[in-house]
Amino acid sequence: MTLDTEVIVVGGGPVGLGLATELALHGVRAVLIERRTDPSVQPRAKLTNLRSMALLRRWGLADEVRRRAPLPDGYPSDIVFCTRMTGWLLARFDNALSTAATPDAPYAEPAQQIPQTVLEEVLRTQLMGAPTVEVRIGTSVVDLRQSEDRAEVLLDTGEQLTCSYIVGCDGSQSTVRRGTGISMNGGAPLATNVGIVFRAPDLHAMHDLGRAVHYWTINPEMPAILGPLDAEDGWWFHATAVDPSTDVKSIDAHSWLIAAVGKRFDAEILAVDPWIAHRVVAQDYRRGRVFLAGDAAHLHPPMGGYGMNLGIGDAVDLGWKLAARLRGWGGEAILDSYQTERQSLAHRVIRESVDNYRILGNNLSAPNIERADATGDRARQEAARRIKENKRKEFSSTGLQLGYRYDHSPLIVSDGTPPPPLDVGRLAPTARPGHLLPHQWIEEGVALADLLKASSFTLLRCGADADVAGLVKDAERRSIPLTVVALDLDSDDRALLGAPLVLVRPDQHVAWRGHSISDPTGLLNRVTGTTVVGPAGADGQAGANGRAAAHGQAGSERRQAWVIRWAAQVPAAELMPLLPQHHAYRRRLIEAGALLGTRPFGSADAAVDDHSVWLVIASTAEEAERLTAAEPWAAAGLRRCTLQAWALVTAAVPGGTSPSSLNRSGRNGQCVQ
Ligand SMILES: Cc1cc2nc3c(=O)[nH]c(=O)nc-3n(C[C@H](O)[C@H](O)[C@H](O)COP(=O)(O)OP(=O)(O)OC[C@H]3O[C@@H](n4cnc5c(N)ncnc54)[C@H](O)[C@@H]3O)c2cc1C
Repeated sequence: MTLDTEVIVVGGGPVGLGLATELALHGVRAVLIERRTDPSVQPRAKLTNLRSMALLRRWGLADEVRRRAPLPDGYPSDIVFCTRMTGWLLARFDNALSTAATPDAPYAEPAQQIPQTVLEEVLRTQLMGAPTVEVRIGTSVVDLRQSEDRAEVLLDTGEQLTCSYIVGCDGSQSTVRRGTGISMNGGAPLATNVGIVFRAPDLHAMHDLGRAVHYWTINPEMPAILGPLDAEDGWWFHATAVDPSTDVKSIDAHSWLIAAVGKRFDAEILAVDPWIAHRVVAQDYRRGRVFLAGDAAHLHPPMGGYGMNLGIGDAVDLGWKLAARLRGWGGEAILDSYQTERQSLAHRVIRESVDNYRILGNNLSAPNIERADATGDRARQEAARRIKENKRKEFSSTGLQLGYRYDHSPLIVSDGTPPPPLDVGRLAPTARPGHLLPHQWIEEGVALADLLKASSFTLLRCGADADVAGLVKDAERRSIPLTVVALDLDSDDRALLGAPLVLVRPDQHVAWRGHSISDPTGLLNRVTGTTVVGPAGADGQAGANGRAAAHGQAGSERRQAWVIRWAAQVPAAELMPLLPQHHAYRRRLIEAGALLGTRPFGSADAAVDDHSVWLVIASTAEEAERLTAAEPWAAAGLRRCTLQAWALVTAAVPGGTSPSSLNRSGRNGQCVQ
């Protein structure tokens, strides 16, 4: 039997469930395939962070998540460092992980401690009522195929499902990733760790460290982390970076727990689960009609609690873009922008989590740390100093969770303002294009972001002066969902927005801001990844990839260029000196910028961001071939530098001004090593 749908989501972990939720919000027909029938015993993620909670609020699920969380409201989210749970206290971080609500917090929803398994249940339950989404449990995808206009998966039942797009949310061992031939790039695995889930009714009463969500045990025998799953008897434990010679399959789990606690106690072991700390990112997030999201696309140590949260962000970014493409108002570039936006964030998060993993109980410990004398006191003071110095940002990362931005996305219209420094610990709220709309309370219980419509663009308008009729009309004509919200803000709040008009995407990122809209068509082209420039074609719609309309323009100049996008695994600052000819490339970009307008890339600089995404532009196909194959890439030894995508770009230049956007219609994913 063959079933046809719009999107097949492979994997019903938090990311697949999140993607299906987002697709349902946009009315996209989707089938989610999940092979597990029972929920996993291992809770894995315990922290649903600030960004995910904002997205859950956007889905109308934040209250339900809090209601279902097994740790009661107000449970202290402290992080305690001790020698053992019944040993010496070393350091304590009060109110860590941004889980407490404070009136002046720069977010509406604090983070929430909740086991991943419970969050999955919340998402799964609400999906059961979604009219456009079918959830199939207990079935595996075993193979997939794609052609130019369709994609297809084969199930272990023998059934075939065809669709427009497949998204692999199938975790670290992704069948979809393997089936598509996408490799993971990055460093060697960091270490093996051992997770244990257990019940211990007496453990809370056995120590005098007070209630906390993490207890890090710092001693030479059992460096580990423990924490409560609920307020009664449920616990999780991770022994970090275990000795590589350990046979992790046959450990005596109970004795490991006793070593961390420091006293004997009764425990019922529910699961023992070794896991490896990786640091890899998929070379491509897209191959034709197939996409990757979540752990299928990136893996890193859990320190800082980013993995699932990063994946839920992928799901929302991709979900609204798939809807846009399927409904015909998004161009092909909107789908390509998924990788541009999310892969660079994954690199940033991986750097952070690897940095967090560098300092564990294993290396905070000292031989004398448990001596009950002055030598022991000194060892404990030194450990406390290092903990305070190194671990704070792991438990307080508002800047990274909410301050990331899509500076180099082709969908974002830069306003020329400089980006604020990205400080992991501190958020600099701004409505600069590419950033998340900053939080403000509009009235009691109503945040600015609550005024946004999740399934459409929202134009925030402060003051009646600015004319938005052209944009509204053009959006209507092209069936681009757009909602206008008039705001009456005080001067402080207005200053935070930075302009009277702010165009916000369905995912709450600012796409554009300004004082007036001089080119509504160009603006909509840009933010929807379409290439209609100037007046639209006779039918008033962009063609499938926007080219038909671009062809039809009077008074436009058409130019061609080749865009070659490279990604390397080293920071730009290290890459630059390696490239003997980088000035030539930079010049070429500036020249190309003059040809095409620099705005599509935000700047004419060669190093596009600190994740070493490079763009090289040539004006002919032959030149592009020569540039990709030759110096200086190979000569500089950039073995991990891959050609991610190249495209024939057609840019129409109305009246000799900058074009509004570029159209990608070239080959994809060719690899030059
Ligand atoms: C110890 C530990 C602690 C962590 N703590 C945190 C934390 O606090 N915060 C955080 O954000 N992240 C944390 N993480 C990371 C988080 O668990 C993962 O990032 C998250 O599970 C990724 O979700 P996913 O949906 O991409 O993949 P998964 O959760 O792995 O889900 C993939 C799903 O796909 C299904 N599947 C696989 N193959 C197929 C197939 N062929 N057909 C059908 N179905 C298939 C699987 O059964 C599975 O249900 C932690 C991880 C670990 C190991």
